[in-house]
Amino acid sequence: MSSLPSTMKAVLCDKTGGPEVLRYTEDQPVPKVGESEVLVKNKFGGINYIDTYYRTGLYPAPSWPLTLGQEGVGTVAAVGGSDVHGLKENDEVVYLKQGSYAEYTSVPADRVVKIPSGVSDDTVLGGFLMGMTALTLVKEAYEVKKGDTILVHAAAGGVGLLLGQILKDLGATAIGTASTKEKCDMAKEHGYAHMINYKDIPDWVPEVKKIAPEGVTCVYDSVGKTTWEGSLEAVKRKGSVIYFGNASGPVPPMNIALLSKKNTKIMRATLMQYVVTRDELEYYSNLLFDYLRDGKLKVNIHKIYDLKDVQQAHKDLEGRLTSGKLLIKTT
Ligand code: NDP
Repeated sequence: MSSLPSTMKAVLCDKTGGPEVLRYTEDQPVPKVGESEVLVKNKFGGINYIDTYYRTGLYPAPSWPLTLGQEGVGTVAAVGGSDVHGLKENDEVVYLKQGSYAEYTSVPADRVVKIPSGVSDDTVLGGFLMGMTALTLVKEAYEVKKGDTILVHAAAGGVGLLLGQILKDLGATAIGTASTKEKCDMAKEHGYAHMINYKDIPDWVPEVKKIAPEGVTCVYDSVGKTTWEGSLEAVKRKGSVIYFGNASGPVPPMNIALLSKKNTKIMRATLMQYVVTRDELEYYSNLLFDYLRDGKLKVNIHKIYDLKDVQQAHKDLEGRLTSGKLLIKTT
């Protein structure tokens, strides 16, 4: 094993709160690596909206202090034990595991995937959690068919820009919502046939009905509190509304009788319940890598932040100032 430092740079959260609770440190102990784990020296950590849910307390923290970040990319710095197969020091890898706002992260080997040739590490990470989310939505939450008309909220966000391209590739007509003209223009460059600026037109449902008079086949709604009701109105008879996020706050408890109006199917989807087994993780990561390699999926990196500037990254994300993926440079 090459020599490892005892301490590292990391960003910790000691309590719930605003971005100010994110604390940069240079003397966090390097994590110990368990028998079935590898230690990854991160090159980039991925920022996702879920990180803000843990920071604010919307989702309960697994432990305190908390190191945020659900995914990272880097090289294997140490292999835990004989339980680990197919991974060795210096392998270039990408992974799903909490704790990537740091120089090093210990990761169960079955959550680690080798980076394929022909795709850069920032692109892989830019598309990893978000791209697999988009793929699970279109393949399992509601299986998109050629000719479907699909509504996506926050279409210019990280997941939104990837979803638009995948929907177009599948032969669906994608309608998106976003809050500025610039975001609408960017979403149109990423697969959306129609965009509605829901800041200028808060009553956006009639705009959707102008494009799809009977309603859309499916809505992918990650905005939640401010859009959930409109999503039920915008969907057609026997359509599906897939809720998968809380950018404006969670969807409140709803009366199930609302669904009988049009025999609407609803679901609350999460990536982590689609990639539980090793086979599932490999299936979706390989599918994603194929999309990236074929050039069918372009990843828009909004900005790469230094680890010291994670507070600003959270402010930008929650302030609706970003389009695409935010990465943290961890070295
Ligand atoms: P985004 O880049 O999409 O950022 C969130 C966007 O939501 C904003 O840019 C903004 O776009 C929109 N938004 C609408 N209302 C608000 C509000 N009140 N405050 C802040 N933003 C608002 O983030 P991500 O791509 O990281 O994630 C998108 C969504 O998908 C999140 O809800 C996230 O939790 C969810 N997600 C769920 C997963 C799952 O497994 N269930 C996995 C990955 C992501 P605009 O200004 O155009 O309205």
